[in-house]
Amino acid sequence: VNIAVLKETQPHECRVALVPSVVPKLTKLGARLHMHTGAADAIRVSDSAYGEVVFMDDRTALVANADVVLCVQPPALDVVDAMKPGAILLCFVYAANEPELVKRLLARHITCFAMERIPRISRAQAMDALSSQSALAGYYAVALGMTHMDRVLPKITSAAGVLGPAKVLVMGLGVAGLEAIATAQRLGAVVEGYDVRPETREQALSLGATFVDTGVDATGKGGYARELTAEEKTKVDAALTKHIQASDLIITTAAIPGKASPKLISRPQVAGMKPGAVIVDLSAEGGGNCEATQPGETIRVGGVTIVAPLNVPSNLGADASELYAKNQFNLLALMLHDNIVTIDWTDEVLAKTALTHDGKLCDAVKTPEHS
Ligand code: NAD
Repeated sequence: VNIAVLKETQPHECRVALVPSVVPKLTKLGARLHMHTGAADAIRVSDSAYGEVVFMDDRTALVANADVVLCVQPPALDVVDAMKPGAILLCFVYAANEPELVKRLLARHITCFAMERIPRISRAQAMDALSSQSALAGYYAVALGMTHMDRVLPKITSAAGVLGPAKVLVMGLGVAGLEAIATAQRLGAVVEGYDVRPETREQALSLGATFVDTGVDATGKGGYARELTAEEKTKVDAALTKHIQASDLIITTAAIPGKASPKLISRPQVAGMKPGAVIVDLSAEGGGNCEATQPGETIRVGGVTIVAPLNVPSNLGADASELYAKNQFNLLALMLHDNIVTIDWTDEVLAKTALTHDGKLCDAVKTPEHS
C-alpha cells in the first residue's frame, strides 16, 4: 500500500499528518510512505528525521500513485484531481464549507474519511481528532488569555504583599472547556465552569472547579447541547451576569453541531465586566460566543480584551501533529490488513466517518446499522 502525506498549504496551518514516531507503525503494517518535501518544516522537523520515507517535490506526482492520501486540512482541488480513482483520503473536510471539493471527490470516486465525522463512542476515542485537537485548544486558550492579562492567575505572595488569585470562568464544558478548567486550575486560578448539560457539573467539580448552575438543562442528542429557547436564554443570562462580571478571564467554547455558535455573552454584559478582563473566544470559527467577538481578531471593548483566534491547535503544531498523526494511524489500522486496504462497511466507525465512496455521498452507504 502506497501512502502519500501532503504538506499543508492553508495560511497559518502548521500541522502535518505524519510525524516520525508514527512511521515505524505504518511500515510495520507494510505501507510504503511518501511525503511532500518539507511537509513538517512548520514544526521544524526535517525530512531526514522521517527515516525511510521517500520525499517528492511535486505534489500531484506524489498523490498520483497513492492508495491512501493523508493531510490535515481539505486538499487543494488539483490534488484530488490527480489522485487515483478509488483511492482513500483522510483529512478534516467540513463538507458544508467545501461543496466544490465534495463534487471532485465524488467525480473521482475517492473514498474520503472526514476526521470530524469520527463517532464519539468509546471504541473510536483513539481516532478522535476533534477531541485531541480540542483538548490542546482548551489548554492554549488559558495560555493565550494570560498573555493578554495584566494580572497573575495564581496567588503570589511577595514581601510587598499578596496578589491574586484571578477568577476564571469557562463556558462550555466539552473537551476544550474541561481542558481549559484543568489548565487554569493547575495555574492556581479560582475556576468556575458552566454548561447547559447538567452532567458537566460533576466533571467540573472533579477538576476542582465550581459549577454555575443556571437551572436550565439543554441536553440534546448524542451528548451534545441543543439551542436554548428565548425563555431559557433570559433565565441563563440573569444567572450568569454576576459571574461574567466577577471574572478576570473568561474562556468560551460553546458549540452546537450544525449551528452558529450560541451567544453566551452580550454586549451589555461585556460593558459590565471588570476593566482589564479578558475573553478568549474559542468558538470564533462558528461566529463566536460573545456578541462583540470578531473572528480572527483581538479587540478592545472598553477595558475588556476579546481574543478570538482561529485554528488554535495549529499554534501547538508539534503536539497537535503528534496526536493527529496517531488518530489517523489508528483509523488507518482499521482498514490496513496484510498490506491490503479493506473497508469493512459494517464497522460503525468506518461507516460513520466516510463522507464519499464510489461516487456517492456516504449518508447513502448502507450498513446493517444504517439501512
Ligand atoms: P462541542 O464542541 O460540541 O461543544 C462544547 C460545549 O458547549 C458542550 O459541552 C456543549 O454542551 C456546550 N454548549 C452548547 N451550547 C451551550 C450554551 N448555550 N451554553 C453553555 N454551553 C453550551 O463539544 P465537544 O467537546 O465536541 O463534546 C461534545 C460531547 O461529546 C460531550 O458530551 C463530550 O463528553 C462527548 N465526547 C465523547 C467522546 C467519546 O465518547 N469518544 C469523545 C469526545 C467528546
